[in-house]
Amino acid sequence: MIIVMRPHVPEDELAAVTSLIDALHLSAHVSRGAERTIVGLIGVSNDKETLLAQFGQMDGVESVVPISKSYKLVSREAREHRTLVRVGARIVFGGEELAICAGPCSVESREQLLTTADAVARAGANLLRGGAFKPRSSPYAFQGLGVDGLKYLREAADLHGLAVVTEVLDVRDIEVVAQHADLLQIGARNMQNFGLLRELGRQPKPVLLKRGLSATIEEWLMAAEYVYGGGNHGVILCERGIRSFDPQTRNVLDLAAIPVAQSLTHLPVIADPSHGTGQRALVLPMSLAAVAAGADGLIVEVHPNPAAALSDGPQSLTLPLFADLMRRLTPIARAVDRRLPEPALAA
Ligand code: PEP
Ligand code: MN
Repeated sequence: MIIVMRPHVPEDELAAVTSLIDALHLSAHVSRGAERTIVGLIGVSNDKETLLAQFGQMDGVESVVPISKSYKLVSREAREHRTLVRVGARIVFGGEELAICAGPCSVESREQLLTTADAVARAGANLLRGGAFKPRSSPYAFQGLGVDGLKYLREAADLHGLAVVTEVLDVRDIEVVAQHADLLQIGARNMQNFGLLRELGRQPKPVLLKRGLSATIEEWLMAAEYVYGGGNHGVILCERGIRSFDPQTRNVLDLAAIPVAQSLTHLPVIADPSHGTGQRALVLPMSLAAVAAGADGLIVEVHPNPAAALSDGPQSLTLPLFADLMRRLTPIARAVDRRLPEPALAA
């Protein structure tokens, strides 16, 4: 059961609710977001009707909702309207306008990012992606440029009016990544790194939560609940493909997961057709399909010279291919009542 408090509820009204919870020997989980505080009531087994009436009439309470799911605050039952997640000064995930993140798998050099940012901004992207801290299967593979990479991302994005999305691999890096980025990516391999999820829940920058390599949709939503429950209500989900038996594609991009997740949660859901397929030629058709399926945005790997990329070259689009993708997306977006981002500021 959750108790949704009115926006900007006074402390004494919240305290009255938590006192009653204590008096009833129930436990409460209080999630304080920037605007709204939500109280999760844990361990309610019977007498739901009485509790609904009791809490429903208290000052400061907007609604009391019984929720049977294992994830509660992020569930569709908890919130009637879709959550809009603000990123940077100008971007909103979950509205009519799609959010398009584009850039290399790894940040490799300042020049690489300046060239990429210029091209993706001109083509109509609104966020620059790029890994500065890379989760590589082999410890001997390129691990990323670290803080230098973050600086290059910020500089290139600012020059072209883009926001920055980049992965945070480790709790120890949250502060420095949050200093440079507008949106913090939790990679597929870290979807169930509960310590990382909890820490990201305690800081204010929005989070892009990739689906784990073999995570069910329910596990993915429970991971989102860790971040949201910590008080960070800026959570965006990303379907990036799951492992299956057929090696033909790198992963299986689960397009049905987009409308399924949107039916189960009020959070925005985007798609990653690059990791979802592993092949450049499949990125265009799967991007179109993801938007047609209702995705709130895309994250796409783009590289000025994919053949020389230090990671994920085979799935990276060239700069002209990305521009072509954006052109081809326009009518698809329109057909599902969405639109592409407004052109970035100083492209
Ligand atoms: C990435 O975005 O480059 C990445 C490593 O993604 P994932 O965590 O989905 O594999
Ligand atoms: Mn990659």
